Amino acid sequence: MTVNPAKDNHIETTTEAEHDLNLSPAKALFCGDIVQSCFWPFPQFTNEEKEMLGMVLDSVDRFLEDKHDDFRQWDEAGQQPEEFIQGLRELGMFGLIIPEEHGGIGLSNAGYSRVLQQSSRHDASVSLTFGAHSSIGMKGLLLFGTDAQKERYLSRLASGEMIAAFCLTESGSGSDAASIKTRATKDPDGGWTLNGEKIWITSGGIADFYTVFARTDSDAGKISAFIVERDTPGVNTGLKEDKLGIRASSTTTVSFADVKIPAENLLGEEGKGFKIAMSILNNGRTGLGGGAVGGMKTCIALASKQAVERKQFGRSIAEFGLIKKKIAEMVVDCFAAESAVRMVSHYIDSGNTDYSVEAAISKVFASEAMIRAANESLQIAAGSGFMKDFPYERSMRDSRILTIFEGTSEILRLFIALSGMKDAGVLLQELKSATDDIFNNPIKGFGLLSDYAGRRITHLTSLGQNRIIGEVPEVLRDDALVFEKYTLELARMTDVLLRRHGKSIVEKQFALQRAADVVIDLFVGLSVLSRVSAMTPDDSKQYQQALSIAHIFSQQAKRRMNRNLRAMLRNEDESAKSLADYIFDKEHYPWDVL
Ligand SMILES: Cc1cc2nc3c(=O)[nH]c(=O)nc-3n(C[C@H](O)[C@H](O)[C@H](O)COP(=O)(O)OP(=O)(O)OC[C@H]3O[C@@H](n4cnc5c(N)ncnc54)[C@H](O)[C@@H]3O)c2cc1C
Repeated sequence: MTVNPAKDNHIETTTEAEHDLNLSPAKALFCGDIVQSCFWPFPQFTNEEKEMLGMVLDSVDRFLEDKHDDFRQWDEAGQQPEEFIQGLRELGMFGLIIPEEHGGIGLSNAGYSRVLQQSSRHDASVSLTFGAHSSIGMKGLLLFGTDAQKERYLSRLASGEMIAAFCLTESGSGSDAASIKTRATKDPDGGWTLNGEKIWITSGGIADFYTVFARTDSDAGKISAFIVERDTPGVNTGLKEDKLGIRASSTTTVSFADVKIPAENLLGEEGKGFKIAMSILNNGRTGLGGGAVGGMKTCIALASKQAVERKQFGRSIAEFGLIKKKIAEMVVDCFAAESAVRMVSHYIDSGNTDYSVEAAISKVFASEAMIRAANESLQIAAGSGFMKDFPYERSMRDSRILTIFEGTSEILRLFIALSGMKDAGVLLQELKSATDDIFNNPIKGFGLLSDYAGRRITHLTSLGQNRIIGEVPEVLRDDALVFEKYTLELARMTDVLLRRHGKSIVEKQFALQRAADVVIDLFVGLSVLSRVSAMTPDDSKQYQQALSIAHIFSQQAKRRMNRNLRAMLRNEDESAKSLADYIFDKEHYPWDVL
């Protein structure tokens, strides 16, 4: 979806009660628009959903709470026992998002993300065993499967009789997923023969249902998606990988040697496999985000208890400012990540057609926040944190994967910035054609140009107008103004960058990263403001502290955004690139003192 330039070449805040399901609020930020109806009111679970979810969360806790010693042992052993996986099946963990008519629980995206949050409070590998199944393994079947395919597989997937895995990555194809070499050639009977090898497949060793991506014509040709059953002749899985973290989760190669796939196992349209893979990953990102939030909540609980109990210099270390700072930052991060993930789940559940940038934002923010939380909670526990007797080191190892799989932070930042700028570029194109047209069709040309000029003038003059500040409690008005101001600054900077670099902006990765970081702060910050605005004001400490979280986030975001925007124009990017090239040439650090 794109922001419609004809409709949106103004920068007024959109206030329609029902937001346009084709509109991406994050992309609109690049054009200077805060689409208010996409952020307010903050989404809430219905009473019915709360009741259902409450039961699921309780049963997750009951099943996992007495197994913490086992999780530690399974981490060392590098696998979960079959009896445990059977327990997950009996609990219904493989049917969370499968519709009830196929034997699942039929949770919404928000509900599912909340369940992953709960299980991740206990153990990350557990979350991955059933999370990879739902988030990516069989999501393609749910989104793109035919009725016959759903009829054939969904009930077996819901019961966990079949566990699903997502097979995209290959040894030569990681971030550049479009470069896969696995090949499916069409047979005379309409079926396919599959050859190739996928690596690092989550649940590879325990799955029975693989969503496999393969090239279906020439080497440079189109990719298609297939359902492949484990017991098909020619399907093999490798040994379990020995990993840094999430060690108890199965990760293996999955290879295909002349595997015969029936025609009816093509998933979605032939040649649309890349789009299908990206849709699955976009849709699944709130699962990973929910898991990260759950992990952060555990870090906060562990580290705050540790800080209160540990005494040094005759005092509890919780009394020291630097320890308080770490806890406060973890709490702000957690609240912010939770708000953004909840917002994105809501877009998905409401039927938004383009939430890819928002999903990427929530994944980048939540996964990096979780890594910070794991690192800082270990620092609070210090020496104890380093010991395997305590859970901190495992949390650090387990969280490290979050910025790597399902899209690295680098790739997602580039995606966020380029997708947003593409829409802003459409507006700029309009300016260009308007200028060209002045000579051929002066009236039309000037008309368009004055619209654009109007937009730019609004950039300069609309600060302080009543836009979103009417939506937040009085005490957060200054914070709302921060997001109004920096939305306009982002649009202005996007103009500058696109004018300066044109299409070569694609190669300006330092600038793209800064633009992505600004829009991440804007989107996450607006989600936080919306969430706090939905709380009932009272004198309780909990409410007052929630206001404080919103205030801390917006003021820290303001400083980050300001830094990023200033660095777009004045920076050391070229020197840094040249330094890196010098080192790439040498492949070592050449300045030994001795
Ligand atoms: C434990 C684990 C489980 C996994 N599970 C699955 C699974 O179930 N299914 C599946 O298909 N895959 C899975 N993967 C693979 C995972 O998705 C990839 O590791 C990931 O996409 C990154 O690919 P790569 O590791 O090859 O890194 P590369 O693509 O080689 O990237 C290396 C570095 O370069 C950066 N980089 C790459 N391109 C650019 C660019 N254009 N600009 C700037 N920086 C760039 C990356 O961000 C990264 O920092 C799993 C991986 C692991 C480790």
